[in-house]
Amino acid sequence: MRQQWALTALTMFVAAICVVETTYADDAELRIGLARAKITPDEPIRMAGYASRTRPSEGVLAELYAKAMAFEDGRGERAVLITADVIGFNAKVADLICDGIMKKTSLQRRQIQLNPSHTHTGPVIGLPGATGYDLADEEAACVHRFTVRLADQLAELAAAALADLKPAKVSWGVGVTNIVMNRREFTERGVRLGFNPRGYVDRSVPVVRVDSPDGEPRAILFGCACHNTTLSGEHYQLSGDYAGFAQQYVEQQQPGVQAMFMIGCGGSANPYPRGTVEAAQQNGQSLGAEVCRVATGTLAPVRGPLRVEFECAELPLQPVPPREQLEKTAKGSNYIALTAQQMLQAIDKGDSLPDHYPAPFAVWQFGDDLTLVALSGEVVNEYVPLLESALGPHKLWIAAYSNDCYGYLPTARVLAEGGYEARCLYTAPGFFTPEVETVVVAKIREMAATAGRALPR
Ligand SMILES: [Zn+2]
Repeated sequence: MRQQWALTALTMFVAAICVVETTYADDAELRIGLARAKITPDEPIRMAGYASRTRPSEGVLAELYAKAMAFEDGRGERAVLITADVIGFNAKVADLICDGIMKKTSLQRRQIQLNPSHTHTGPVIGLPGATGYDLADEEAACVHRFTVRLADQLAELAAAALADLKPAKVSWGVGVTNIVMNRREFTERGVRLGFNPRGYVDRSVPVVRVDSPDGEPRAILFGCACHNTTLSGEHYQLSGDYAGFAQQYVEQQQPGVQAMFMIGCGGSANPYPRGTVEAAQQNGQSLGAEVCRVATGTLAPVRGPLRVEFECAELPLQPVPPREQLEKTAKGSNYIALTAQQMLQAIDKGDSLPDHYPAPFAVWQFGDDLTLVALSGEVVNEYVPLLESALGPHKLWIAAYSNDCYGYLPTARVLAEGGYEARCLYTAPGFFTPEVETVVVAKIREMAATAGRALPR
């Protein structure tokens, strides 16, 4: 009897080990699905990013693409990352896109991540009355048609990437680029948009490589923390700027691979050099060459389980200034004047003005191997060291411009120094307070802890 009990206990023990091992192996496994679509507008369209342009686009320098990468871990947790050669998605457009994706797939909002490349040679994106640009009726209708078509295409893309899910080997590494230049130039008259070679920038080039189980390369996802603005407001041909040319370069060098670009905290950085088509191609080639070098070198594994956190942080806005001051500000012709005008309109209608802006943030944790932080807004470079210090610097990829482009996300220091990046929100009437920095960093730390990242004390 005792022997039989011992034998049964031994059998159960061995079985338990097998279950533990099997569960561990399944959790660590990742399946990846891919899809891509050409999204170049099929008619001349007003272009985004520079208020100085006065007419629609004139032809195509390089096709625009949207691309999707679907993830599934061994427990069935899923998420889809969508990248696109466009300026950005405000909250209303992101809602339209995500609603379409949720109708077409079983995904919830928290499982969807949108990362536009912030190209300034792409179309204006927006819904009627909320494009952020002064457009004639027919121009606004064209932008609306494009935006609705794009939302449909992105829903198809998410569904296609999920349908393509198959076992994959995922790995990652980090390179460096020299195309990133701090653009906050300090002058006797204050901070202006220019060149600041001594200013901080994030020069890292994170690279994720996806292979089939037998080592066939399928995709390369890479990042760069820099405005996608080699080309200026004088350029009227559509293109994905340096990020588009970098993806093109990687796909030429690695035939059959889907290259995807995810922009980082480049709010206060411009490409260098800039201003010509040749410079845009050169910057893309230079970044693409580094991506290929990293992708074909020694990489660290990226395994599951995948934990996906998605939350809105209430970012604090400054109290509404006295009416007299608002009226004075509203007389200008810049974004700050526009915000002051919106505030006055709201006050006149009897609406109460917001004291917070709900900004969406995402954290994707891949086992103990990698944390992907996706901030929203045009996040200034100065957030990178703050988040590195809060989360620890290793196994960390910080993306920005994700899920909602509401305006610049400045640090307390940038707000105090002033300059272009200290300006207001585009999509809601208000200006951030210096406490915004503490709120953002605390929220991301809390989300990373929930997602399972080991944090420094
Ligand atoms: Zn920008």
